[in-house]
Amino acid sequence: MRGRGERPVAQILDGKAVAQKVLAEVKRGVGALREATGQSPTLAVVLVGDFAPSRIYVTNKMKASDSVGIESRDFLYPAGLSQSELLNLLRRLNEDRSIHGILLQLPLPPECNEDEAIAAIAPEKDVDGFHPENLGRLLAGSPSVVPCTPAGVMEILDHYGIELKSAEAVMVGRSRIVGKPLAQLLLARHATVTICHTRTRDLAAHCRQADVLCVAAGRPQVITGDMVKEGAVVVDVGINRLQSGALVGDVEFESVARRARAITPVPGGVGPMTVTMLMKNTLQAAKRQLGVT
Ligand code: NAP
Repeated sequence: MRGRGERPVAQILDGKAVAQKVLAEVKRGVGALREATGQSPTLAVVLVGDFAPSRIYVTNKMKASDSVGIESRDFLYPAGLSQSELLNLLRRLNEDRSIHGILLQLPLPPECNEDEAIAAIAPEKDVDGFHPENLGRLLAGSPSVVPCTPAGVMEILDHYGIELKSAEAVMVGRSRIVGKPLAQLLLARHATVTICHTRTRDLAAHCRQADVLCVAAGRPQVITGDMVKEGAVVVDVGINRLQSGALVGDVEFESVARRARAITPVPGGVGPMTVTMLMKNTLQAAKRQLGVT
């Protein structure tokens, strides 16, 4: 593809299109499960507090559930719910056989202990893949449920046939929800993986080595064109709202797209995949619990 001034412009890795494909597959899977068992996958959505972005995420997750035939039940509590009340709720949901997935919307209010709450979710109902047992399985190389955003990145890379075996992959960011699990997934596919973070001595030098550069730093446009190898594949997980109101990634799209071979846009790249993979994880959890392979 050629852009203005005859400079090569990267192929767009269209997460929205991949998400639609996966959602259609999930919808078919939900129909097949209902036919086989008479039951629909059911997701419990737990939200504590009134953090506005969390409310939007929860609404979007429930809408997505509806669109593929997954039932969702909401458990919405104001801030002030005690840790023991939250743990009791999670225990009740664990025991309820009509619920197959539990989504605990993060962040929790400061008075709640997130790690303890995540660990209280039954691993087989942990559709976010954050339970220590599920993260351990991922590390051991036999994942049962994979965190949604990293799983969505892999789905995009696979959809576009990006070769990972023996590729130099650089992961910028080491969070529990994105960087660390995504690095493991890339490693499991035989990429040589480097993980960068705020104490990395020369971020640009590492990034320039990457055939596949994944960025989840939560810093608007921290990766610029001069930090990217000609012909690299760039995956931008970041979502940042600028003061101007514009939504941008962690990658400076214009300059990077001139050097990269392929790039995910923001919005419309990794973003739509996260909720999509939550739907896929919920279907898989329901199938496992209902004994359908
Ligand atoms: P996070 O928990 O804040 O972690 C950011 C990571 O990036 C940390 O490991 C940090 O290093 C590293 N980092 C920050 N600035 C850096 C720099 N200048 N150079 C190198 N490393 C740097 O963020 P997160 O939850 O992983 O999210 C990252 C981004 O992805 C955010 O923009 C978030 O909104 C977005 N996100 C998008 C989706 C989606 O659906 N598309 C889902 C989740 C997150 P240290 O460990 O040293 O602090």
